Amino acid sequence: MGIFSNGNVTNGIPTAKPSTSLWDLDASQVKVTLTDAPKVIPPLESLKFGQVMTDHMIVATFHPQTGWSIPEIKPYGPICLDPASSCFHYSTSVFEGMKAYMGADGKTRLFRPELNMARIKRSVDRVALPAFNTGALITLIRRLVTIEERWIPKLSGYSLYIRPTVIGTRPGKLVFLTSLGVTASDQAMLYVICSPAGPYFRSGMRPTSLLAVGENVRAWPGGTGCYKLSLNYGSTMKPLKDAERQGYNQVLWLLGEQVTEAGAMNFFVVVKRDDDGWDVITPALDGTILPGVTRDSCLALMAAHPSRTILPQIPDGVCLHPQERTITMSDLVQWDTEGRLLEAFSVGTAAIVTAVGRIGYNGKDIRIPDYEGGPGPVAKALYERILEIQDGRVKWEGWSTICA
Ligand SMILES: *Cc1c(COP(=O)(O)O)cnc(C)c1O
Repeated sequence: MGIFSNGNVTNGIPTAKPSTSLWDLDASQVKVTLTDAPKVIPPLESLKFGQVMTDHMIVATFHPQTGWSIPEIKPYGPICLDPASSCFHYSTSVFEGMKAYMGADGKTRLFRPELNMARIKRSVDRVALPAFNTGALITLIRRLVTIEERWIPKLSGYSLYIRPTVIGTRPGKLVFLTSLGVTASDQAMLYVICSPAGPYFRSGMRPTSLLAVGENVRAWPGGTGCYKLSLNYGSTMKPLKDAERQGYNQVLWLLGEQVTEAGAMNFFVVVKRDDDGWDVITPALDGTILPGVTRDSCLALMAAHPSRTILPQIPDGVCLHPQERTITMSDLVQWDTEGRLLEAFSVGTAAIVTAVGRIGYNGKDIRIPDYEGGPGPVAKALYERILEIQDGRVKWEGWSTICA
């Protein structure tokens, strides 16, 4: 990040900008203003995912002449933007989704935040927004989590959802006929908001249903599906609404015959092998798949079973074979017909693991075996182990970062 260097700062105001370089995001300069009207935290039972925001947010802005401003943590509230801002017209907008967890030891933790930071860096670059020091953003987020600690429900499965966002704020010239209209945004805003999170799906841990959709495509080769860009999500709303109208909870996105993702989660299936082992298959990262932190964690934990750790729930003698490869709808139909389709589940930060009970395809349902109305052994094992690592009960390869 050679263009950045940080010079002198007095009382939070830059006094001597280095002449040849721009300011980078600098967590040590953060200006903290606490709210004088803390909100009343709603009762746990009424906590629906992402509906209530906490008291504070992080905000920093980028200007092409000066670079990144001094970051602020300040009371949560509206932001004021020029209606011609690039983000509104050309979707120069990227985001992340991560969580903070409260451990039984009373410490708050982030789960593998460096992976979210590596991903936001790639997303920001893909829409030509200005880069920033992502290590500084982790430091700022840890500070924010510490300030918002009272918002993290002290119950297993509850957490604080964190949404870092970067938007292009350059007021564009709204002219498409010349080269002046659609250009990179050389002004930007970075902000981070938080929301207390309970169980994501209304059905809790009960299996969900997916409708396989091929006529609307979420991601394609050479497209942007592997980045967390806002522009990937707006166009999924109508197909989701249609699926819900047909009685399904989510969309299983296809690319031709190929299965890609389930809603905004990565998709896995468990298939019985001839040797009594189980294949646990998820599509490979070929550019059409969002490289999920949860996906990566599931693959790593399954690869470590049973040599380096014993996952709960997995029957003795069953060997798990995690695989990243193409899954087609004909594969699913065939495995179902042969009675080898043991489980299907989707994974992501919001819900960790959600079991799939049926998949609608060509007017019929593929039914996944019922495990007394709950998730199957692999889904359950991954859910339990990841939760244990997230709240600090189990230590695993530096996957937890303590906030304070
Ligand atoms: C965020 C996201 C995921 C899950 O990623 P995690 O890092 O595990 O939360 C999966 N698919 C899509 C399309 C996503 O946007």
